[in-house]
Amino acid sequence: MQNIDWNTLGFKYMDTHCHIRYVWRDGAWGPGELAAEPYLNMHIAAACLHYGQAAFEGMKAFRCKDGKIRVFRPQVNAQRMANTARRTCMAPVPEAMFVDAVSRVIRANDDFVPPYGTGGSLYIRPLLIGSGAQIGVAPASEYTFLVLVVPVGPYYKGGLQPVRAVILDDYDRAAPLGVGNVKVAGNYAASLYAHEQAKHAGFPVELYLDSKEHKYVEEFATSNFIGITKDGRYVTPDSSSILPSVTNNTLKQIAADLGLTVEVRPVPFEELAEFAEVGACGTAVVVTPVCEIVRGDTVIKIGSQTGCGPVLQKLYETVQGIQYGELPDTHGWCVEV
Ligand SMILES: *Cc1c(COP(=O)(O)O)cnc(C)c1O
Repeated sequence: MQNIDWNTLGFKYMDTHCHIRYVWRDGAWGPGELAAEPYLNMHIAAACLHYGQAAFEGMKAFRCKDGKIRVFRPQVNAQRMANTARRTCMAPVPEAMFVDAVSRVIRANDDFVPPYGTGGSLYIRPLLIGSGAQIGVAPASEYTFLVLVVPVGPYYKGGLQPVRAVILDDYDRAAPLGVGNVKVAGNYAASLYAHEQAKHAGFPVELYLDSKEHKYVEEFATSNFIGITKDGRYVTPDSSSILPSVTNNTLKQIAADLGLTVEVRPVPFEELAEFAEVGACGTAVVVTPVCEIVRGDTVIKIGSQTGCGPVLQKLYETVQGIQYGELPDTHGWCVEV
């Protein structure tokens, strides 16, 4: 294996020893195989290529203080992938097989898990695709499930940096009764154009309002929305087209443990100006503080313009402390591999 400089790792693909791959045929999953080559030999008529039968997941494994490697809440990702599979008519991956696949691929790549203290982790990417040939529109007759891993560095090297967000009223991410609440690859294709526009205008993230009326806050393109009120309540939107983020679920529980009131309810656009802190949460970065939200001529400034607010900072430190085995894992979230 190549020499990795753990201190300069970013969030980008690199080859590891292997990924793990399973194929579903005639109603059953085959045994998983570790494969060194990072390529699939796929049929040109595969359903995932033409009709978008593709689901993915994202989670992380950590080298903990005691030297052991633990994955964070893989069962929740397994359940979410099962929901995505059901919604897109793909063969579901049983939870036990999913968690076993994750453990096996991590063990086969354990020297790619960044050492404790570097702030890095092993990013785990499960993928489920319709790999059978399909020309008439119908569910594929063969599926491929694979899990690849990539070592990644800490997203923020010098503390949590606040970012500016934009609302682009010309684009929606997900329809109210569509597939916004499951993790299908196509949701990302649907948001890329708006994302490029946002980036071009100087905003690293874009915030979506509900597609029906553009009245309520939904989520960022790849992360959930959290607002902290001036009296310290944790508010996150309730909607049928938001992707249920494992990070948000975790932070809600930690907030409740810390004594905060947690509210899951519709969040009208007008309420944005009232939050003391706003954050975007997801596995890759845990939480990104948002200090400004722009919609047309309206500019909403939120909290500190230079750093992270105290509540999101505390939530961030607590989840990281649990993930690296520095704080007690009272909910049994970390699974040893
Ligand atoms: C994956 C994803 C998230 C974040 O979910 P986590 O489980 O916290 O990583 C948020 N929004 C969308 C649209 C996503 O696809």
